[in-house]
Amino acid sequence: MTIFQRIIDREIPADIVYEDDDVLAFRDVNPVAPVHVLVIPKRAIVNLASSAPADDALLGRLLAACRTVAQLCGVAETGYRVVTNIGGDGGQSVFHLHLHVIGGRQLRWPPG
Ligand code: AMP
Repeated sequence: MTIFQRIIDREIPADIVYEDDDVLAFRDVNPVAPVHVLVIPKRAIVNLASSAPADDALLGRLLAACRTVAQLCGVAETGYRVVTNIGGDGGQSVFHLHLHVIGGRQLRWPPG
């Protein structure tokens, strides 16, 4: 079980900013910007690479939740980044699919 599953199950606390039937969004414990929120499906999927066509509607809901989170956190107008890390080279450390919503400062590209 991942630490994100334990957050979904309310076994450990999180600073939740958005929730619906399928999605949970909470602040990253180690933020890289003033706004850094993780958007996750409540149903466990390891990452984008391991998702299936049957998950496509859920993937769309995750992206829509990122848009809502950006509005709730006040960065919809100033700009922000949505990123998902996949596997070893992608830098994924928690193996429960999550989208990072990062904003509140000028972001650089490429991220390195
Ligand atoms: P990734 O490297 O894409 O797998 O990102 C995992 C993210 O989860 C990192 O940015 C961590 O800071 C974050 N994280 C790990 N544990 C927690 C937690 N208990 N609550 C909130 N964020 C967490």
